[in-house]
Amino acid sequence: MVTTHNLGFPRIGRKRELKFALERYWNKTISEEILLAKATELRSKHWQDQVMLDWVPVGDFSLYDHVLDTSLMLGNLPTRISELPGSRLDDLFRAARGRAVNDDRDCVGVKACEMTKWFDTNYHFIVPEFDRKTQFSLYADSFLRQINAARRQGIQAKPVILGPITYLWLGKSKDGTNKLELLDELISVYAQLLNVLERLEIQWLQIDEPVLVMELDQSWQHALRKAYYQLQTTSVRLLLTTYFGQLQNNLQLACELPVSGLHLDAVKAKDEAVKVADWLGSNKILSLGVIDGRNIWKTDLNETLNWIEPIHAILQDRLWLAPSCTLLHVPVDLDCEVTLDTEVRSWMAFAVQKLNEIDVLAKALEHGRNSVSEILLENANAIECRRHSTRVHQPVVKCRVREITDAMGARQSSYRQRAQAQRERVRLPLFPTTTIGSFPQTQAIRQTRSKFRKGKLSQQEYRFAMQKEIETCVREQEVLGLDVLVHGEPERNDMVEYFGEQLAGYVITQYGWVQSYGSRCVKPPIIYGDVSHTHTITTEWVQYAQSLTDKPVKGMLTGPVTLLNWSFVRDDQPRAETCAQLALAVRDEVLALEDAGIGIIQIDEAALREGLPLRRSQWCAYLDWAIRAFRVAANGVKDSTQIHTHMCYSEFNDIMEAIARMDADVITIETSRSDMELLDAFDQFHYPNEIGPGVYDIHSPNIPSVDSMIDLMKKAAQRIPIQRLWVNPDCGLKTRSWEEVKPALRNMIAASRYLASNLKCFKVS
Ligand code: GLN
Ligand code: ZN
Repeated sequence: MVTTHNLGFPRIGRKRELKFALERYWNKTISEEILLAKATELRSKHWQDQVMLDWVPVGDFSLYDHVLDTSLMLGNLPTRISELPGSRLDDLFRAARGRAVNDDRDCVGVKACEMTKWFDTNYHFIVPEFDRKTQFSLYADSFLRQINAARRQGIQAKPVILGPITYLWLGKSKDGTNKLELLDELISVYAQLLNVLERLEIQWLQIDEPVLVMELDQSWQHALRKAYYQLQTTSVRLLLTTYFGQLQNNLQLACELPVSGLHLDAVKAKDEAVKVADWLGSNKILSLGVIDGRNIWKTDLNETLNWIEPIHAILQDRLWLAPSCTLLHVPVDLDCEVTLDTEVRSWMAFAVQKLNEIDVLAKALEHGRNSVSEILLENANAIECRRHSTRVHQPVVKCRVREITDAMGARQSSYRQRAQAQRERVRLPLFPTTTIGSFPQTQAIRQTRSKFRKGKLSQQEYRFAMQKEIETCVREQEVLGLDVLVHGEPERNDMVEYFGEQLAGYVITQYGWVQSYGSRCVKPPIIYGDVSHTHTITTEWVQYAQSLTDKPVKGMLTGPVTLLNWSFVRDDQPRAETCAQLALAVRDEVLALEDAGIGIIQIDEAALREGLPLRRSQWCAYLDWAIRAFRVAANGVKDSTQIHTHMCYSEFNDIMEAIARMDADVITIETSRSDMELLDAFDQFHYPNEIGPGVYDIHSPNIPSVDSMIDLMKKAAQRIPIQRLWVNPDCGLKTRSWEEVKPALRNMIAASRYLASNLKCFKVS
């Protein structure tokens, strides 16, 4: 017998049902009961999708984020939230978004918790907060209800929780308290939970400790030992899961922990998986994550069997099979895709298809390959066809990449000289104001795009409608008094997907959505072949915006590293190679914008940091090729063309030096939720060019006050000469409404004007 299971299933639903329910609840179109009923329905459907498995994960669903759910279950919410009146759902949304649905419109809300990226994925979690007063207590009702519901439905439930050490590791100490001092109390709450699960006769509990793939010092390794020694007191068997990488020097520790099973990401750490099979204690099961939970390609089933058959021969019943990690990071079901190019589609597998692959592998192990020979043959054909397809390989593109030189990545002059040329071309006040690119994506805009996509609008009608949107956006910005305008990006569904639609080598899905944070989903386009730029993409819109105003309009592009990190990429060539192809494509577009007379061009690299390998020892290599790709994309322009870049939702302090190497003239960067903590980096590192630390948290519906933004800018001015500071929001405004954006930007501009006319507040250098 080979046991099959899954680590987690996408929550959002095939057609983003969860997103729509949440948003309806937030704007009070539906009640809490209806929202919760929708969630119940989705969970039940998703369990049904997984019945081919021996064990189905339960507790992996979340209304917003599973780390936040863990905080609620452990009774660990910041006091500013827990002391407010309301239900647990109110607490949840206040922590996530700064306000509960019944908080009245004018209330300023509460400061939402920080949000940051989950390991090296584009999923964002809500950062747990700790301080010396932190206490934990168990609130497991919602979790237990889900387990009971699954059982009532006849599901073999394997509850899933986030492990205590990863939970502590991911959280943030607000007052310098050593997080590990909280360990004892935390473990005792986990122990209580285990007692409850024991009473429910739970056989297996999946406990996620992805922190095991990180570089852990002795104190954290010790914490792991301590936690799991103390948690072995019940009859509940613990399946300790790690994913997203190799365990390296944590491997032995992971194998020695007193748990009943260990799951390894055998896509990222195949060699380790093979080794562990040899020496894992005979009282433990080994779960191999053999199907890539981070990408959408079919697994080569025959090749996988080649290496897992010998392991099966050793482990027999002690071998479990699963995807490498939770399937949260892939779309739900390839069967929804009816318009996708059929050839490329035949190379893919989404969550449901991946679970079928697991099932086939298990059958092949148990009953021999012959028992599934047809499926294996079909799989082999798809793999062969992809490998040799002439649609994948474009010799011209490969040749252009080989010919990239260092000179292509260097500006003609130093920042100082360029800044001079740029000042002569565009006059800007001190503390110039700008935005990050997108303006509210109204219902009307979405409808226009959707009608055009469905052929209900002609090219001409569509262009006209978009021009009207651009005009509205430009006029609003003029009225507000922004200094550098944007066209507003109405034509873009998404900053990556839009370019994926226009570049060769990409395909786009209809329903390939993946959760990014809360109700926000992205539909990563899929790079299946060599990428190239075949026509200009953005010039028409930006030029149109510029024709409407005397103020400078900033062109808006997505950078090569972000295109790479937010697409599903090829697994048949190194990421660096794909990134270099993308860099050339973006460079072509940058030069087209410059030729069209656009003097300021922003190249967003929102995802630069999340591409960093999880281990610092591998950072350097990544940053080398990633920064080089940005430079190739951006730096072919004249001195007088100002290059901006933008980054968000990550900790940047430790890669500032690499960011400086990009040599963008201006960088706008997220900081407002973390109170300008980012700027600590400038104590040690002297950032040479201009910078716009975000002062308006656009992920919250709250309107920032003038004073709060002045304060943030004053903090910034302590580290950066004011001549090099810009004032801008944290990120694009597409998810906000005009009613929110207008007063917020009005306040932001007022803050900028106040600062410019009160220079005595600053020491002018
Ligand atoms: N230009 C994009 C926008 O404004 C940037 C978005 C992002 O960084 N995530 O929407
Ligand atoms: Zn951003």
